[in-house]
Amino acid sequence: MAVHCTQCGTGLPAGARFCSTCGATIPAAAYSTGRPQLVRPIAGRRIAGVCIGLSQAYGWDLALVRVLAVVGLFCSGGLVFIAYLACWIGIPEEPVAAPDAYPPPTTPTA
Ligand SMILES: [Zn+2]
Repeated sequence: MAVHCTQCGTGLPAGARFCSTCGATIPAAAYSTGRPQLVRPIAGRRIAGVCIGLSQAYGWDLALVRVLAVVGLFCSGGLVFIAYLACWIGIPEEPVAAPDAYPPPTTPTA
């Protein structure tokens, strides 16, 4: 992931410790990969995984997100429904870790 100088904004190659333009030290915070990515997890989803994705990415309580989503669904006159659809379309699905995560189909021996 490319980083940008916090002083002058120059795009720097990944792993750069100093800016090649102004010489500023690149703080470790510029490499912040600790922030959870906004994705729609496959596991545990109810409909499209939007609620789980939001709660994981922003640290919200999953139960609270779901309650607000359901309440909003009935009380917002469709706004939440539209927002949900927008998230469904806009948030990428969580990448599948490995294709062999799923067990191969078992063939009956009898
Ligand atoms: Zn710079």
